[in-house]
Amino acid sequence: MMLDADVKAQLNEYLQLMEGDVLIKVSVGSDEVSKDMLALMEELTSISSKIKVEETPLERTPSFSVNRVGEDTGVTFAGIPLGHEFTSLVLAILQVSGRAPKVEEGVVKQIKNIQGEYHFETYISLSCHNCPDVVQALNLMSILNPGISHTMIDGAVFKDEVEDKNILAVPAIYSNGEFLESGRMSLEEILKKMGSSMDASEFANKDPYDVLIIGGGPAGVSAAVYAARKGIRTGIVAQRFGGQVMDTLAIENFIGMKYTEGPKLVASLEEHVKDYNIDVMKSQRAKGLQKNDLVEVELENGATLKGKTAIISTGARWRKLGVPGEDKFKNKGVAYCPHCDGPMFEGKDVAVIGGGNSGVEAAIDLAGIVKHVTVLEFLPELKADEVLQKRLYSLDNVTVLTNVETKEITGDDKVNGINYADRDTEETDHIELAGVFVQIGLIPNTDWLGEEVELNSYGEIVVDEHGATNLAGVFAAGDCTHSPYKQIIISMGSGATAALGAFDYLIRNE
Ligand SMILES: Cc1cc2nc3c(=O)[nH]c(=O)nc-3n(C[C@H](O)[C@H](O)[C@H](O)COP(=O)(O)OP(=O)(O)OC[C@H]3O[C@@H](n4cnc5c(N)ncnc54)[C@H](O)[C@@H]3O)c2cc1C
Repeated sequence: MMLDADVKAQLNEYLQLMEGDVLIKVSVGSDEVSKDMLALMEELTSISSKIKVEETPLERTPSFSVNRVGEDTGVTFAGIPLGHEFTSLVLAILQVSGRAPKVEEGVVKQIKNIQGEYHFETYISLSCHNCPDVVQALNLMSILNPGISHTMIDGAVFKDEVEDKNILAVPAIYSNGEFLESGRMSLEEILKKMGSSMDASEFANKDPYDVLIIGGGPAGVSAAVYAARKGIRTGIVAQRFGGQVMDTLAIENFIGMKYTEGPKLVASLEEHVKDYNIDVMKSQRAKGLQKNDLVEVELENGATLKGKTAIISTGARWRKLGVPGEDKFKNKGVAYCPHCDGPMFEGKDVAVIGGGNSGVEAAIDLAGIVKHVTVLEFLPELKADEVLQKRLYSLDNVTVLTNVETKEITGDDKVNGINYADRDTEETDHIELAGVFVQIGLIPNTDWLGEEVELNSYGEIVVDEHGATNLAGVFAAGDCTHSPYKQIIISMGSGATAALGAFDYLIRNE
């Protein structure tokens, strides 16, 4: 049997929601994956009488496409979409069967309006938690627009293609055979990348908000819900809804929930926001903030949004090493997400730069997949928690180098090593490697702000106990502030504080 009882029960439940018939075309050979694929097809047809399967050669073998009867949709899976891609399979079947996708009408219109022919290919690994978003977004685009098609390709099944294309980070997205982008992208980001954007005029004539929130991570979402619950006009503008939580796999310290995963938490944040009258503006980047009578936030698309108050919750991003080779080999061996890209380095030697909690966690995680991990720490000792260090030192395929400075990431068309120096002796050395995972902390996303908002020496916004900044009516929350601890629950708490602070300000100043 292909599916275990739990997965089969879930499929059974989901496939009850199918609206019309679906024809799956499957292209199989005599290899093991083909056998499993046929077994999966049998399971699907046994679960739903609305699913028909026919064997036919497709561009890749093994693969299968999910179609309407009499009309190909262009949605193809080259590999077996289980693991993290299970939801992609379920959604493809449901949406092809006629079930409406859970996206805004404006976005559906935007997709349908795309002109031209696009064939997308996304290389994934089944353990990549960043991949399903991309697969599902491109599948949806294929389903809605006859000019668009998309194939998910499991890199573990099509190893030759991965080697030929030198793919070292997933998801790796190709459009009409040309590399488009690597890493997690939301539907809105893909549309933007394709040059299809919502009209700036849609933003230009918006009335001022009572509270305008900039940033859609846990801090911004929490602020938005708290503000909207006061019945005041609330808007939230975000470059990437969900923020860092989108890059997080396991979350075990979100109190009240023993375990959840980043994308799952973001989906419920989005649901929570949708429950209220909140104007959510996704995929929009703020590039400036000024305080006149109102707070004015200028967007990169040219529009200016206004608010009687504003809450800045633009979070933080991975700190870069800043050494030669880092940019050149990004996604060609230089990686920032061990959960996503670890499997690409199976059986190879890698380094982790950074001996804090995230670096040591990454090293422990990678040690289970790769041949050998070298941890390089700038300070004389590791900074990670004792329990993590103990676990790290118990592993026999890990070497720890302390008091060393990374000088250069070397390579030709991809990473082949690292040059580092001992900080006391200044002696340099070279290690041959296939991958470098950079894990050296975060920097606040405050560089877009002008001079008016007070920052500390780390670039973090200074706030008081009400979440207020030095500018009257401007508040801030979460990882972009000088809060000493950067956590989801702490960001949410400070988002709530800032919203209540802003509400207080409004009732005192109107
Ligand atoms: C890999 C990883 C694992 C983690 N694991 C955990 C964990 O297990 N538990 C835990 O509690 N915490 C964890 N964290 C930390 C946690 O994710 C952060 O503390 C939290 O997300 C901070 O929330 P935030 O809303 O302040 O900022 P962010 O999550 O960074 O969100 C910032 C928001 O602002 C937007 N933005 C940025 N600049 C602009 C701009 N100029 N214009 C418009 N929008 C902008 C972003 O797109 C995003 O929407 C982890 C972080 C990472 C990276």
